[in-house]
Amino acid sequence: MRECLYHPVFLINFELGRYCNYACSYCWPAAHSAIRDHIPTEIVIEGLAEIRRQAAANGFTEFVYNISGGEPTLHPGYLDIIASLTDPAFHSIELVSNISRGQRWWERFIAASAHFQRVFLTASWHDEGNQSRETFNDKVSWLRQQGVQSCINIVMIPQNWDKLLADAEYFYQHGNRIALRRQDLGDGQGPVGYSQEQLALLTTAFPSPARSPETMRIARPLDYELHHDDGAVTTMPVTSVPTAGNNKFQGWRCHAGYQMVSVLANGVVRRGMMCRDRPLGTLSGGFQLFPQPAPCITPICHNTFDLRACKHK
Ligand code: SF4
Repeated sequence: MRECLYHPVFLINFELGRYCNYACSYCWPAAHSAIRDHIPTEIVIEGLAEIRRQAAANGFTEFVYNISGGEPTLHPGYLDIIASLTDPAFHSIELVSNISRGQRWWERFIAASAHFQRVFLTASWHDEGNQSRETFNDKVSWLRQQGVQSCINIVMIPQNWDKLLADAEYFYQHGNRIALRRQDLGDGQGPVGYSQEQLALLTTAFPSPARSPETMRIARPLDYELHHDDGAVTTMPVTSVPTAGNNKFQGWRCHAGYQMVSVLANGVVRRGMMCRDRPLGTLSGGFQLFPQPAPCITPICHNTFDLRACKHK
């Protein structure tokens, strides 16, 4: 990703736990838990501080935090955690949330995240959840008015296709960016089958509106830059990277573990979310980032977070 290529940015994905208040029928069993399994607040804050120390030793001074779950906003220390991330240089926070929290909580979120230069919310719409699409839409609109960049993410379950497409149309008409996602069966089983018409709609149905003036004020290149063997340089959005077949980097030198790290809900620290490498360590037993880029040993890089790390032949 160009932001990582041209800025001293370090990427952190930190899973606070797998607990979620929804139990959607299509969610992977490994991706959520009905039991509150949160990593304690002080361990999260210490872990993030240690990552920043080691990243700074690698020369990185800017940070992008992807604080994830389960449903991350249900972590009892979530607001304290994000308020603790006061870096002197550029720093931004991203979260994927079902936004089931009430309005008062989101007002506190806006206050706790005011020090970030960029706040990005991927609002996941689940029609099996506990709120109407009108309530969901009102919350996203309000957050947008507070300066939060947002995108509504909808996993297109084939059995519920027409209803979800109507929901997406409703959100789109209210000025939201929409990302329609293929349902993935998990455990390496891959995506479910779709008709050719559905596959086309997944990528073309809701073209993104021009970036808002607020977004344009932040001069951060978020697309992907590809340097080809013949010297040509092209760019593309992240959603097009795997579709275009640019996801096989085995043997390449990759910045995952050096300019990026992923902490799982069980406290294991890995170079990326889906990389097959041995873990870098654990929060309780200690971990060590790579001092330089290291070869990729994973046949396919198919996680959108992992794809953001720079990779060289
Ligand atoms: S799987 Fe992706 S992120 Fe992990 S080492 Fe390979 S190229 Fe890098």
